[in-house]
Amino acid sequence: MMQYVSTRGGVPAQTFTEILLGGLAPDGGLYLPEHYPQLTDRDLTAMRSMNYRELAFAVLSRFAGDMPDADLQALIDTTYRAEVFANVRTGESAADITPLRTLAPGLHLLGLSNGPTLAFKDMAMQLLGNLFEYALGRTGASLNIIGATSGDTGSAAEYAMRGKRGIRVFMLSPNGKMSRFQTAQMYSLQDDNIFNIAVNGVFDDAQDMVKAISNDLEFKYTHHIGAVNSINWGRIAAQTVYYFKAYFAATTHNGQQVSFAVPSGNFGNVCAGHIARMMGLPVRKLIVATNENDVLDEFFSTGVYRPRPAANTYHTSSPSMDISKASNFERFAADLLHRDSARVRAMWSEVERGGVVDFRVGGVFDRVADYGLVSGSNTHAGRVATIRTTWQKYGIMIDPHTADGLSVGLTYREAEVPLIVLETAQPAKFDEIIHEALGLAPQRPGLLMGLEDLPQHYVTMDADVDALKKYIVSKLN
Ligand SMILES: *Cc1c(COP(=O)(O)O)cnc(C)c1O
Repeated sequence: MMQYVSTRGGVPAQTFTEILLGGLAPDGGLYLPEHYPQLTDRDLTAMRSMNYRELAFAVLSRFAGDMPDADLQALIDTTYRAEVFANVRTGESAADITPLRTLAPGLHLLGLSNGPTLAFKDMAMQLLGNLFEYALGRTGASLNIIGATSGDTGSAAEYAMRGKRGIRVFMLSPNGKMSRFQTAQMYSLQDDNIFNIAVNGVFDDAQDMVKAISNDLEFKYTHHIGAVNSINWGRIAAQTVYYFKAYFAATTHNGQQVSFAVPSGNFGNVCAGHIARMMGLPVRKLIVATNENDVLDEFFSTGVYRPRPAANTYHTSSPSMDISKASNFERFAADLLHRDSARVRAMWSEVERGGVVDFRVGGVFDRVADYGLVSGSNTHAGRVATIRTTWQKYGIMIDPHTADGLSVGLTYREAEVPLIVLETAQPAKFDEIIHEALGLAPQRPGLLMGLEDLPQHYVTMDADVDALKKYIVSKLN
């Protein structure tokens, strides 16, 4: 049966359901499968004709060793329904779940943002909501999720967990600092297990309150406090599925290779692509695209990983990629280091001290080529230009994150190798830059018309951890 180990080697192997509800491993590392499942040419041929739900089962059952097949299939069937991923644009079909649009021969956009919050995070988070409810239901336990958001993650988590038995979500956001659309998306939820807390302060104040609670082990344990951050293994596993789906949609036989361009921040999405490739998917290049926050681009061009202090993060027009250190990067680093967990541990203790790690030592960085990863970064001017050109040439409106992916992806385009750009959000979420680039308002899916006029449901709080604790306790039971 598939077992999971920590990148830092300090905990015994665990099963899928044992690590499902957790985040970091107790030794501070991230969970990875002991070995990646290997797919043969015959497996790929069988998968080629599957729909999204069948494919999700074929891929995820190889990771979810200790879950009964029928239960996994049922959760997948509930999650990946056309009604859930119905925010589609002209010419797309909700039944495809992740429709592939062709811009030009050999150049495609993979639609990952048709879920309830219009960003790709729904792809994994929706399944996670159902997996969490299932796992808690088996033991009768409850889970109180707390998080801080500047926009996309919080809404994806709330829409995935709303109405779920045994789960409550306490989501902190900076009062008055999100876009009207993002605010309305979260605060209009009326479910009684969702608690929106508008903190008088900035995102970092909200984040510090969450950290304070996570560090209070007694409070955490007594009140079953958990998180749904991007290092959760279930999210990565769920994201591998659409790499397969896109590959089959863009090719006709398994002898062909494709390249993917991935708008990146915490390295979760592209990490899933790396894992799909390790399983045997014929991927030529995984193109990591960043914005001005280029810690990943710096690594892939120099071999040195140099996380920046959070205070040095630029606020850009592709805000969901504004990160100073990439929390999932440790997973790829573990593979690059051939799972030498002692070395991962030594390197990341350096990173945690605010240091820099150099992968050129011992020729480790030279192996990056074996994994197909390359990178590039983009700027505000580049995003505006790409949004404009894509609209003028193809009549397709893309969001600023996808524009980073397309812009960097095109610099690596090769004849005969289809390039698939991952569309990570819909332009409707980012009307400012769309207006700047095109002089018009982004199309909004019909289901979300009038969102800002719905009644809003939230409490306002100062950045005071004791007040937050009192509030949480008052909502339990
Ligand atoms: C979260 C997010 C990203 C970055 O994804 P990672 O998995 O963190 O690399 C890119 N685009 C959008 C729209 C996002 O919400």
